[in-house]
Amino acid sequence: MSEVNEREVIAEVRAWLAANWNPDQTLVDWRSKLADAGWGMPHWPEQWHGRGLPVRLLPVINDEFVAAGAVGAAATGPRILASVTLLEHGSDVLKARFLRRILTGEDGWCQLFSEPGSGSDLAGATTRADFDGTQWIVNGQKVWNTSAHHADYGLLVARTDWDAPKHQGLTYFVLDMRQPGVEVLPLKQMNGHASFNQVFFTDAKIPADWIVGTSNNGWPVAMTTLAHERRPATGVTGASTEGRRGRVYEEARIEAEIANEPYRWYPQRAGRVDLVIARAKETGAWTDPVVRQEIAKLLTLARCTNWMARRAAAAHRIGRPQGPEGSLGKLAGSNVARQAAHVHTLISGAEAMLSGKDGPHDGIIAEILVSVPATSIAGGTDEIQRNIIGERVLGLPKEPRSDTGPFRDIRRNT
Ligand SMILES: Cc1cc2nc3c(=O)[nH]c(=O)nc-3n(C[C@H](O)[C@H](O)[C@H](O)COP(=O)(O)OP(=O)(O)OC[C@H]3O[C@@H](n4cnc5c(N)ncnc54)[C@H](O)[C@@H]3O)c2cc1C
Repeated sequence: MSEVNEREVIAEVRAWLAANWNPDQTLVDWRSKLADAGWGMPHWPEQWHGRGLPVRLLPVINDEFVAAGAVGAAATGPRILASVTLLEHGSDVLKARFLRRILTGEDGWCQLFSEPGSGSDLAGATTRADFDGTQWIVNGQKVWNTSAHHADYGLLVARTDWDAPKHQGLTYFVLDMRQPGVEVLPLKQMNGHASFNQVFFTDAKIPADWIVGTSNNGWPVAMTTLAHERRPATGVTGASTEGRRGRVYEEARIEAEIANEPYRWYPQRAGRVDLVIARAKETGAWTDPVVRQEIAKLLTLARCTNWMARRAAAAHRIGRPQGPEGSLGKLAGSNVARQAAHVHTLISGAEAMLSGKDGPHDGIIAEILVSVPATSIAGGTDEIQRNIIGERVLGLPKEPRSDTGPFRDIRRNT
């Protein structure tokens, strides 16, 4: 798109906001207008609540929302995973049923992939879905499902063919979480938060056509979801609601409080590099040459990781497919978080172990130490990223496999 057209887009969104934005309406009414006009997800196709604009225009469109004080679409977290997966692989029936309500925030979503016996080995899933002639019947268990306790729908990977090789017998479904056959049990973490759940299925039902992609071809669909998990979310997020008055802002604040509650510890999970210098000055640790050396190492790592993320975001904006930055960035993020936890320990000493209000920085330092390990697990562990980098980026030979042939005959621990 030329410079002139970019200016036209800016003029168009500005005029539309002037005519439509009003903080004294319900959040759903406002978001419905966004979905009708295509300004909530302007890079989505026109047929599906977008305007078919290039991703690179999102920041300038977002700037207009911020300037007008307008709230954006609801597509964040698991909702964005659901929407991008449905857009790429979903039937028109599924897109028509779910995409609009994702944008308006009327439905919450979760990801039902990991199982007690298959996390890294996602293709080893044993939760089963059997077709009874009219619908799919699901039995089994998932685990570590973030936000499942708030979710209306789940993105489910289940085994539908036990005689096919393991990657070819999986189907990707949309599952209604609000039904008697679905039991959600929360898990409490060592950092005191409860983001995750175990989800049990006992004859849970899925309509025949709620398959994303085609039957027994769920693996590439799951790969789409995972690729987006390792890339920043896109969409018009709009203005901050902080300190603003009006019905839309109040409802958006309540929505954010509920939706963000499972993620409150995520900044600590990333190591809180932002606290390091202030803490080192506060405690006097900044005069210690060893501490200074480790801080310099941390900030160098963090700066390089940030440049890599910016390179990936720039490639995404001009429409390039995801490159090695996904796995490299994920691994670099783990290294930064681990080094940050090490530096916080050096700075705070034994006090770093004190949790709650009595601990340094109101217990945040202790929370960092017990939250950082999650960085190297979520969305694919460090070892799995190294395997991907070895095989797909460096071209090293693949690991020898012992899991070929019909899934039914593969030796496994479940
Ligand atoms: C913050 C967070 C959020 C999450 N959210 C969700 C969610 O919403 N939905 C969901 O379904 N899951 C979710 N998960 C689960 C996550 O996807 C799994 O924990 C992850 O894939 C690892 O699986 P696992 O825990 O079963 O570990 P395992 O796969 O059992 O791995 C155990 C250890 O063995 C290593 N290992 C395994 N295979 C190999 C191999 N081939 N080569 C070398 N080393 C190997 C691993 O690196 C690890 O160190 C979340 C996890 C976290 C921490």
